[in-house]
Amino acid sequence: MLDLTGIPVVDNHCHPVLLNQHLDGVQFRGYCTEATDAIFAEEHIPNTVYYLWLLRQMAIFYGCERDEETILEVRNKLATDALIEHLFRAANIDTLVLDPAYPPNSECYTPERMGQLGRCRAVKMLRLETLMQQLILQYSDFDDVVDRFSTAVSRAREDGFCALKSIVAYRTGLNIMEWSKDEAVASFEEARDEANGWEQFRIAHKPLVDFLLHIAFQHAAELQLPLQFHTGYGDSDTDMRLGNPLQLREVLERRDYQGMRIVLLHESYPYSQLGAYLAAIYPHVYFDLSYTIPFVDKLEMLAFTRQALGVAPASKLMFSTDGIHIPEMHWAGALRGRSVIGQVLDEMIEADEIDEEEAYHLAQQILHDTAYAVYKL
Ligand SMILES: [Zn+2]
Repeated sequence: MLDLTGIPVVDNHCHPVLLNQHLDGVQFRGYCTEATDAIFAEEHIPNTVYYLWLLRQMAIFYGCERDEETILEVRNKLATDALIEHLFRAANIDTLVLDPAYPPNSECYTPERMGQLGRCRAVKMLRLETLMQQLILQYSDFDDVVDRFSTAVSRAREDGFCALKSIVAYRTGLNIMEWSKDEAVASFEEARDEANGWEQFRIAHKPLVDFLLHIAFQHAAELQLPLQFHTGYGDSDTDMRLGNPLQLREVLERRDYQGMRIVLLHESYPYSQLGAYLAAIYPHVYFDLSYTIPFVDKLEMLAFTRQALGVAPASKLMFSTDGIHIPEMHWAGALRGRSVIGQVLDEMIEADEIDEEEAYHLAQQILHDTAYAVYKL
């Protein structure tokens, strides 16, 4: 068995954890599903293979019985700082690449503090749609929004961001198109009307979003700033037909965008084969292998890891957890990632495709080296 525990991981996509970690069963389960309907946390999550595995791991870690009630009781007794410290250090993390746009900052540990507690580096990315949303609420003039957006993106590196991120997949779709300025302005007016008097304003105005994204792509290409795209499985309001990474074709084909390294997040699940294929073909496309979210079981993780390693170079693959809310997710994803990648590489040794030394080198790239190169860590 290939032992990958000694390789410190770069978690190339994850989120901050909550300040308040005192959780009851329903709350805890609510963080272990991407479904928003309350029935999942109340009834269905305990019957999910992923959740049963997580409880089993937590019971081992906390040294208690395997039932949810006992586990949460033991966990809730720990001070939150100590909880994060124990879990992150056990995970052997080199760097966290955080998307701090969600959950809201006021409810979360800062990236700096997470890094201190985990004794690791913490760097952050800039989420484009959140920036758009803020600017649309702030400015009534389209040109002002465009100016501010363009300036913020062009300053991203100086402002301490090592990447951009787009969630357009679950707003208006990955089929990002070219729109005239007039079309974008009309779309902006609609967005402004809607935003007016609505606190929960959510930008989903295609010509406007696509128009601003193209501005971001130009800067990203010039600055050689990587951009992470959410692809596949995600929020329950995703139109999964538009979350297919093949929808990105127009953007991928643009010659002038080749300087922008594109990271397809969440193994594009369930479009994993398609996403990995894109990383095998386009020089600037990278494929993220995420081992906490989507919440799938080990057999499914083995499948997408085989698909990725089966077609794409390991220097195009990167480990992540998409851990969010609770530190168990970052920890569990690291455990899981090492074990799944190790098992797949073992199979490849067994199949006489590679030898042990090569396998270890490929693992090192996925868990650590590729992300170092992409984010210039
Ligand atoms: Zn995420």
